Amino acid sequence: MRLARTTAYATAAALALTLSACGDDDETASTDVEVAEGCDEFDSGTTMLELCEAGEVTIGVKTDQPGIGFLEPGAEAPTGFDIEMGRIVAGALGIEDSGITWEETISDNREPFLVDGVVDIVIASYSITADRAKLVGQAGPYYVTGQQLLVRQEDAETIASPEDLEGVSVCSVTGSTSLTTVEDEYGAEPVAFDTYSQCVDALESGETDVLTTDGAILLGYEAENPDELQVTGEEFSVERYGIGYEKGDTAMCEFLTDTIEQSYENGTWEQAFESTLGQSGVETPKPPETDPCP
Ligand code: GLU
Repeated sequence: MRLARTTAYATAAALALTLSACGDDDETASTDVEVAEGCDEFDSGTTMLELCEAGEVTIGVKTDQPGIGFLEPGAEAPTGFDIEMGRIVAGALGIEDSGITWEETISDNREPFLVDGVVDIVIASYSITADRAKLVGQAGPYYVTGQQLLVRQEDAETIASPEDLEGVSVCSVTGSTSLTTVEDEYGAEPVAFDTYSQCVDALESGETDVLTTDGAILLGYEAENPDELQVTGEEFSVERYGIGYEKGDTAMCEFLTDTIEQSYENGTWEQAFESTLGQSGVETPKPPETDPCP
């Protein structure tokens, strides 16, 4: 199942490449990203000018979330909606795909990676929250989803809402909003791992009974193993995905926000969505309005 799923993604990515990115030899490319020419548009002293002149950017992404940020075994670059957003941002900085370093992040190290300068930006199913705003900047949102439940199919009737979680073993990830919500609000018995794919393994083996996080992430796992796993119930939180940047860099925030809005206007956001999350059966939503920069 896992293999079939992976192949489906690879095929979708390859098809999109054939249709839209002739001449580009990056096999994972699927959105027609325009790479800006020259760095004249950036003011001196800005992070954007620095990155543009270097022709390189390091982007923190997930690598185990199909449809969002997923590194197929043996592949050189990850694929997914967040990856496409990363390519769009890099293009606006005048940086080619070959100048992007994809750095794997897990939920718990996104803030430290930004604070310590391990990455320039984070695009990793990264909900905008007031707590995170104390440490990092987050531009956007560029996508809105909500927390749901993933269960083994035989439990789909009995575990269908967060009210069913009292005393139930529920897996989620350290440093995520998902874990905090079920722990604080629904009295679940939490099982915490570093990554969601570890939770999927625990769910499949019976070590835990539920995996909870954003619906967009869960749909990717359900699509990997549709005979055994099922997303249940309605969304019970609002998760607004933002692009993380170094706190206080207002010019960077303005640039990221403009780039997100331009992607809505020039069709690349829609293309990015349809070639990635759209493949797990998620309907392309209306793009969300972005927040003003602080
Ligand atoms: N979007 C949520 C968060 O940022 C859950 C998904 C994740 O952990 O990446 O915490």
